[in-house]
Amino acid sequence: MFENKSKTTLESLGEFGLINHLADNFKETVQSTTIKAIGDDAAVININAKEAFVISTDMLVEGVHFDFMYSPLKHLGYKAITTNLSDIAAMNATPTQVLVSIAMSSKMTLEAVEELYIGIKSACDTYKVDLIGGDTANSRKGVCISVTAIGKALKKDILYRNGVKPTNLVCVTGDLGAAYTGYMLLEREKRIFLENPAVQPDMEGKDYILQRQLKPEARTDIKQLLADLKITPTAMIDISDGLSSELFHLADQSNVGFVIYEDKLPIDPVTYNVARELGLDPTTTALNGGEDYELLFTIPATDFDKIKNSLDFTVIGYATEPHEKLNLVSKSGNNYPLEAQGWQSFKQ
Ligand code: ADP
Ligand code: MG
Repeated sequence: MFENKSKTTLESLGEFGLINHLADNFKETVQSTTIKAIGDDAAVININAKEAFVISTDMLVEGVHFDFMYSPLKHLGYKAITTNLSDIAAMNATPTQVLVSIAMSSKMTLEAVEELYIGIKSACDTYKVDLIGGDTANSRKGVCISVTAIGKALKKDILYRNGVKPTNLVCVTGDLGAAYTGYMLLEREKRIFLENPAVQPDMEGKDYILQRQLKPEARTDIKQLLADLKITPTAMIDISDGLSSELFHLADQSNVGFVIYEDKLPIDPVTYNVARELGLDPTTTALNGGEDYELLFTIPATDFDKIKNSLDFTVIGYATEPHEKLNLVSKSGNNYPLEAQGWQSFKQ
C-alpha cells in the first residue's frame, strides 16, 4: 500500500485524483451487504432482496465553504442538510435520516449554535428526515460541519453514474450557475463593505441567486416527477461541483462522450444579468460554477416525447461514443472541448 516515496502535493493531484488514489486500496469489499462502495453520490448497502440503504457524507468548512460575514447560521444549518440530501436524491432514493457532527471553538455562544440548529431542524422538517446522532468536538480554528445522510430505495430504482449509453439524452433539472453568481455577488459586496462599511450592500432584485447560494434546496421531488412521466433514467448525479465536472464523472464511469449545446443551458435571467454585471461569462458560470444541487441524468432517446414539454427538465445534449470525448457546441455552431474545472477542493 502506498509505495510512492516522493513528495506529491495534494494541489497537484486535485480532489478527484486524491480520492481515486486513496480508493485504489479499498476496491475489494469484504461485506456481502456492500453493493456499491466509493465512487458514486452515495454508497449502497443491501437491506433485503428488494431494498437498499444509500449513505453519503459531506463536510462544510469555515473559510472554504462558508463565510460568517454573509452566511447566516440558520441558513448554514439548512444548507448543511440539503447539500447532503442532494446526494441521496441523486441515487433516486428517499432520504430518511441524518447525523450531524460539528467542530467549533468553545468561545462560540450557545445562541449561535442554537441558530445553526434552528436551520438544521427546519431542513429536517421540510424534507421529513430524522436527526439521529452526530458528534461534537472542540476546534481551535474555524467551524466545521459534517453531515451524513441516509436514504432508502427499491434496488431496481437506484441510479448510478455508470449507466449512460451512447445516443442517450442528457437532461438537467432547474437552472444552472445561480449559486456561483450569488457567491461572487456576496464576495463583491463583502469587499466593498470592508473598504467602506458605510456603503449599504446592493442586493435589490437578486434574492434568487442569494437563496441559491445561501439556502439551497435538494431535488428530492425529482424521483416522483420522473415516475409520473414514466421515465427511467439510465444514470444520475447531482451537480455539486459544476456541470462540466459532473459530465466528466459520468463519461468516465459510463465510458461515453458527450455533446452539449450552449444555447440549451438553462440559465435564470437574474443569474445571466448579474453574471454579466460582475464580468462573468454566464455560459462558463453555468458549466463550471458549483453548488447548484440540481440533478443531471440521462434517458433513452426514445423517451424524448415524454420529457420535451416538461418545465422541470431541460434536454441539453446527448451521449456519444467515448472516443468523441466531451464537446460544447457554441451558440454560433462551433465545437469546443469541454473542460472539467469544477470546484476542486485543493485548487482554490
Ligand atoms: P459528491 O461530490 O457527490 O459528494 P465526492 O466527489 O465528494 O462526491 O466523492 C466521490 C466519491 O468518493 C464518493 O463515493 C465519496 O464517498 C468518496 N470519498 C470522498 N472522499 C473520501 C475519502 N476521504 N475517503 C474515502 N472515500 C471518499
Ligand atoms: Mg454528488
